[in-house]
Amino acid sequence: MNLPLPERLPDTDAGHAKAAEVLRSGGLVAFPTETVYGLGGDAGNDRAVAGIYAAKGRPDFNPLIVHFADLEQVKQHVFWTPEAELLAQAYWPGPLTLVLKKHPDSPISPLVSAGLETLAVRVPAHPSARAILRALGRGVAAPSANRSGQISPTLADHVIASLGGRVEAVLDGGPCAVGVESTIVGLVDKPVLLRPGGITEDALAATLGRHLTVRHKAEAISAPGQLMSHYAPNALVRLNATEWEPGELRLGFGDMACDLNLSPSEDLIEAAANLFDFLHKLDARGGRVIAVSPIPHEGLGIAINDRLSRAAAPREG
Ligand code: AMP
Ligand code: MG
Repeated sequence: MNLPLPERLPDTDAGHAKAAEVLRSGGLVAFPTETVYGLGGDAGNDRAVAGIYAAKGRPDFNPLIVHFADLEQVKQHVFWTPEAELLAQAYWPGPLTLVLKKHPDSPISPLVSAGLETLAVRVPAHPSARAILRALGRGVAAPSANRSGQISPTLADHVIASLGGRVEAVLDGGPCAVGVESTIVGLVDKPVLLRPGGITEDALAATLGRHLTVRHKAEAISAPGQLMSHYAPNALVRLNATEWEPGELRLGFGDMACDLNLSPSEDLIEAAANLFDFLHKLDARGGRVIAVSPIPHEGLGIAINDRLSRAAAPREG
């Protein structure tokens, strides 16, 4: 498939407005942040978020950071805490990401946090990123704008070389100040340093007046044990179901009769967009088993199958 190259947008009011318009209509736009170029999509649009994973070509769903224009918008989506307030006052806008409990009414797509009940939020400092976020007026999910496994882009040309037509537009804001990634702090209960970055642990501890627990890479959220207990529905999950047993909740794929259908037309982006929402909806019906149709193991199907196999894994404790 030969996709057309992305439109290169100028770093002007008109360019920012166009970027916001593409995002508003569900398209993907790469834009500079103070760290690297981000691959942005409307965080409230399931299909746009699924499109981010598809464009990156990751084999799993790594939760994404949602970028906002200001603190007021952030507070509409998460349970804000006094410690979040201290850190936000000290370091926002800037390269600090906070992980907080997500508000149940937040319209952010569940695919953004890969099914977790938390949300990673940040107010970036880069003027072009801020201008786009202000023009859009809502949250933008944005991992680095490169194909999975390639190096992070610090120039619009890097984005175009890596993603090509998988992104609709690239806002060319020149080189990013070669930065480290944002520091990530979890504030769901006691403060935890989830990823070191530009803002140091000592600085954070001084601001908070207490030490942070440091989570080492080996125990990162990709550690299977943690993921499984976080992501598993209450019901048991039976994979690759080609027929349904009596009493099962049926999560289908393709043209078939079932309780909920990830994609009647076998569109993997649509299936990814529906995945977490539908698992939650079926689980809420309180059945014993959710049976899932086979999902093709290609493109986004690889990430969908990764997530489903975690949901189906034997339970801890
Ligand atoms: P990147 O977008 O490449 O800077 O990576 C985002 C990182 O944020 C991921 O590697 C996750 O580990 C982390 N992250 C995002 N959301 C959450 C969350 N809800 N809980 C914990 N970590 C998160
Ligand atoms: Mg990256």
